Amino acid sequence: MDAHNFIYGQWVPAVDGQTAKSINPGNLNDTVGTYQDSTEADVEQAVQAAQEAAKPWRKLSGAERGAFLYKTADIMEERLDEIAKTAAREMGKTLAETKGETLRGIAILRYYAGEGLRKNGDVIPASDAKALMYTTRVPLGVVAVITPWNFPIAIPLWKTAPAIIFGNTVVLKPASETAVTCAKVVACFEAAGLPPGVLNFITGSGAKVGQSLVEHHRVNAITFTGSNTTGKKIGQTALARGAKYQLEMGGKNPVIVAADADIEQAVDATLSGAFKSTGQKCTATSRAFVDRAVYSTFKKLLLEKTKEIVVGDSLDAKTWMGPLASQNQLANCLAYIEKGLSEKATLLTGGHAIDQEKGSFIEPTIFECRDHHSSIAQEEIFGPVLALFEVDGIEEALRLANDVPYGLSASIFTKNIANMLAFIEDMDAGLIRVNAESAGVELQAPFGGMKQSSSHSREQGEAAKEFFTATKTIFVKA
Ligand code: NAD
Repeated sequence: MDAHNFIYGQWVPAVDGQTAKSINPGNLNDTVGTYQDSTEADVEQAVQAAQEAAKPWRKLSGAERGAFLYKTADIMEERLDEIAKTAAREMGKTLAETKGETLRGIAILRYYAGEGLRKNGDVIPASDAKALMYTTRVPLGVVAVITPWNFPIAIPLWKTAPAIIFGNTVVLKPASETAVTCAKVVACFEAAGLPPGVLNFITGSGAKVGQSLVEHHRVNAITFTGSNTTGKKIGQTALARGAKYQLEMGGKNPVIVAADADIEQAVDATLSGAFKSTGQKCTATSRAFVDRAVYSTFKKLLLEKTKEIVVGDSLDAKTWMGPLASQNQLANCLAYIEKGLSEKATLLTGGHAIDQEKGSFIEPTIFECRDHHSSIAQEEIFGPVLALFEVDGIEEALRLANDVPYGLSASIFTKNIANMLAFIEDMDAGLIRVNAESAGVELQAPFGGMKQSSSHSREQGEAAKEFFTATKTIFVKA
């Protein structure tokens, strides 16, 4: 597929005609499609289109806006297989996972379609008995949505759907690695008859297209998910010109396994948290702190089960773990494995690329670590690499679990209520999971991190309203 930009309801090539290829990371001979390598001129057109559409769009009722989202969800349901297959080819997640993600996207559309009918303000008693005082939520205007490649369907939707239901118009810039998948998602909005300019889509490099969107004086708000380095830059630029911004960034998520844990349950959740999506979830488990009393049992079972993992092509039904999303991701992951070895961590399993000439496949990798200040224990690797630590009780586990700059998600396995309560109270993370894997997000609940994992706002569920609207306080006297 040749993915064009989508501006004011039309699929158009980039102004200067440049395109780039999107390659299947699991089969370097498979070109998934091309996308536009856009420039500032395209950004200008997209922002102008969003601005033109803003007024008529905000004048519609929530129910009228919601009807477009319901229709988009129905169309996406019809196209589920095609979208899921494109995503699996484009970024290497297994087809089962991309189908699950597409279904999640459909549910997100329906959830926010309903939001058009929910309350959007409060009546507050005024000090003057003859006056009416109330609040109402109003749209921000043009919103830039900048997304990563690891959830190419769900993340663009969990930002775009609330943005437009609350009356904003959008310029969406996806990661280049998954531009073709995202174009297919946008095509569902087009088929649903969304008015021109409400959702615009432009592809190209983050440094060119992303940066000029963030700098554009007519972009009123920026919602971003991606790496810390990019996020901080975006936050500074937005702050400097007074635009609203929301940043969801990296994680270094721990699992704590207490002496009384159900070991089989803890092993399965650690394995799934660390290696599903090839470790490329912001909520992936990347550190495990296991109580001395059960350490050797846990380690033995974890290694046995890790060795059973089938790595392979994302479209092959037998595959449990697909390739990393790109050659860059592979190089980055291998560099961290080298660092782990040079920092004297013990490699328990994995550590090597597989079939490198075919694609960016890698073995699921587990290090046994002692130094919690080593790079593999502190930095987000964003690949299937787990750092395993033996600890002396819940206190030490909690202290180490908190000893990183990130605070996105965290999980504990225990049957002891005191352990659970200590973890819930003292763990610095936006998502707290008890007897469940660290990677798990529910679309109807607030999502976001503490510390350097986010700009401290939340997305999804009702929390999205905070970011995508401004509150007006109204005082009316006869
Ligand atoms: P990235 O920061 O490299 O890119 C994210 C997006 O930003 C892409 O669309 C990219 O083109 C754009 N971009 C790059 N430079 C830019 C700039 N200067 N100005 C504006 N836009 C720019 O991240 P990635 O490699 O695509 O994704 C992986 C990262 O995303 C990981 O750190 C992961 O933890 C994080 N992530 C976080 C969450 C969360 O909700 N917290 C969810 C998924 C992924």
